[in-house]
Amino acid sequence: MINISNIHKNFNDRVVLDGISLHADAGNVVTLIGPSGTGKTTLLRCINLLEQPDHGEIEIDGVSINTQEISKPKVLQLRRKTAMVFQQYNLFRNETVIQNVVQPQVLVNKTNKQQAKKRAQQFLEQVGMQDFQNQYPAQLSGGQQQRVSIARAMALDPKVILFDEPTSALDPELSRDVLNAIRKVADLGITIVLATHEMQFAEEISNQVIFMESGQIIESGSPDQVFHHPENIRTKEFLKNYH
Ligand code: ATP
Repeated sequence: MINISNIHKNFNDRVVLDGISLHADAGNVVTLIGPSGTGKTTLLRCINLLEQPDHGEIEIDGVSINTQEISKPKVLQLRRKTAMVFQQYNLFRNETVIQNVVQPQVLVNKTNKQQAKKRAQQFLEQVGMQDFQNQYPAQLSGGQQQRVSIARAMALDPKVILFDEPTSALDPELSRDVLNAIRKVADLGITIVLATHEMQFAEEISNQVIFMESGQIIESGSPDQVFHHPENIRTKEFLKNYH
């Protein structure tokens, strides 16, 4: 479960997030859509405190941080509850697939190696990558690498996985495998907050869609509401190329 309340973020004098609040229950997928430069990535980075908000409150699975009183132990506690999957897969090039999924568990969660290996195999199987354990990232397609990075995130046992444009580097066929892998994540009860420019993908995967513009939430609702019955003129304008 995740609760974000009234997040503000400026870069220099520029307002990038202007009072964002959102809520997602366990296993729900909340998708952020909106024009380029609207603050979607910044919001994801604020949720795991890779970027420090200027103002607001973040609560994930019972751990809450008010940005007026940030302490290092609290930041670590909150960060442990999240994992992030980026557009570029960020796998270690000189490690095999299985090593890529084992190492973060050992380093971050202090899981013992044997247990970490077992978990890695389990999650690689969930995303259909069990037959590629001993390959190196360069031997895999983009979609396969992205599925490994999803398995790696799942193996860290987070409550929330933040996805920043996970399919934008992939052709449509490979996107489908990644979409299925993301569905597996939600099926495990892990909450997902995802930024994407792919409306079809957003419509298929989300429980809730949030349309953002200029650092504000303009409209939010079910995929059917936002994509097929948008109320705000700006949402309608943004989506007119989708229909
Ligand atoms: P896109 O859809 O193109 O990925 P976005 O909605 O994710 O865009 P952000 O990447 O969050 O938007 O960027 C929002 C604004 O904040 C942009 O104008 C960007 O230039 C600015 N910005 C982001 N990070 C920084 C930073 N570290 N320093 C200064 N400005 C930044």
